[in-house]
Amino acid sequence: MKFLLLSCCAPCSCAVIKTLAEKAEDFEVVFYNPNVVPQEEYIRRRDENRRICEVYDIPFIELDYNHEKWNQAIKGLENEPERGKRCELCFYMRLKAVMEYAKTRGISCVASVLGVSRYKDLAQVNRSAHRAEEETGVKYLEIEGRKGGMQELRCRLIKDLDIYNQKYCGCQFSILKEKE
Ligand code: SF4
Repeated sequence: MKFLLLSCCAPCSCAVIKTLAEKAEDFEVVFYNPNVVPQEEYIRRRDENRRICEVYDIPFIELDYNHEKWNQAIKGLENEPERGKRCELCFYMRLKAVMEYAKTRGISCVASVLGVSRYKDLAQVNRSAHRAEEETGVKYLEIEGRKGGMQELRCRLIKDLDIYNQKYCGCQFSILKEKE
């Protein structure tokens, strides 16, 4: 069954894209990340993610980039810590938007790599996704991106394909990390 894979960036999605492509799964990658600033960084992440999709011959779709709208949506949650309420809303908004887009295409399932990074709370991503699922009627597929050798594959691909690996999650409230 065809599905859309919401991707935040190339480093978080490379291993999942490769694995799904090798299994001949029918999917397209959707880049919907209005949370990312500055715009140059957004463009860099987008172009890098598109390059990885080209490597595995997977369609890449970019949805609208409207950071101001994102700012309005998270208003009042600016001082939340990472993994707190702002992040939960950020995941939910992006997933819901991709589910709404899926509906316009007649696609009934959405997956994501939003919880692949070790800095993310996977349970929080899944919770946000299932909330969006209930509201849109589009099924959320929980895809493995961490266990079963996926982290090792991710690290190897980042090195082998020389993938740009950013040091912060994306928004202006993100904390700088050693590596995202
Ligand atoms: S830290 Fe990341 S997940 Fe949290 S609100 Fe910012 S961009 Fe979204």
